[in-house]
Amino acid sequence: MNLILLGPPGAGKGTQAQFICEEYGVPQISTGDMLRAAVAAETELGRRAKTCMDAGELVPDAVVVGIVAERLSQSDCAPGFILDGFPRTVAQADALANELAVAAKKIDAVISFRVDPDALVERLTGRRTCRLCGAGFHVNFSPPVHEGKCDRCGGELVQRADDREETIRRRLQVYDSQTSPLIDYYAKSGVLKVVDGMLPIDEVRSAVKEAIGSV
Ligand code: ADP
Ligand code: ADP
Ligand code: ZN
Repeated sequence: MNLILLGPPGAGKGTQAQFICEEYGVPQISTGDMLRAAVAAETELGRRAKTCMDAGELVPDAVVVGIVAERLSQSDCAPGFILDGFPRTVAQADALANELAVAAKKIDAVISFRVDPDALVERLTGRRTCRLCGAGFHVNFSPPVHEGKCDRCGGELVQRADDREETIRRRLQVYDSQTSPLIDYYAKSGVLKVVDGMLPIDEVRSAVKEAIGSV
């Protein structure tokens, strides 16, 4: 099962990717997480990516296409994968299609999350992430049992550097101009499934499951 989760920042892609991973046993491939790991490790790639990420701009296509191609070639992706936050441009989508064609694979479904812009800002400003295991929370919508602590591993919950209001506004503009054309792109290839991302987390989870069930 090869899936793409498509939607604006804060739509719930990461939250739902974790559920799908647990349920279907296929790896979540989050380009945002991979780039943040490179930034934390202070690699050359991380240094280049950091400037773009801090500004709310996209990292160049060639960079992300390279890291995704390498990740998809690893053996745990053989039974399937969930792409979370990739592709984000038409050029990335074309590059992905070429990579998959060479490997005789294809995308089975693209789950597109529809969420109102105001809700996105609220979600992103309240988002907290575990420093140790990456689990996601929200101060109001998905609060941890103990404030500031991860339910899963007890790690410290932190706010992402780019989840500040000015950067959020820019990321939403970038989504509209560069990523939203992918909705039509995948609708044309017949794999698009639209899910109402405004519903509570558990209801979105059911809707996603239903969408996957029909693949
Ligand atoms: P969110 O989940 O809030 O949408 P991500 O964690 O996916 O954010 O991405 C954080 C940042 O990492 C982006 O703003 C961008 O700078 C960079 N990034 C992540 N994925 C990509 C991609 N596919 N192409 C270009 N830049 C990316
Ligand atoms: P994305 O990966 O698309 O950027 P996340 O999955 O990280 O989005 O979700 C952004 C924030 O919104 C997180 O704090 C998460 O807990 C919260 N969230 C996710 N889905 C919902 C939902 N359906 N309703 C309310 N809050 C949500
Ligand atoms: Zn944790």
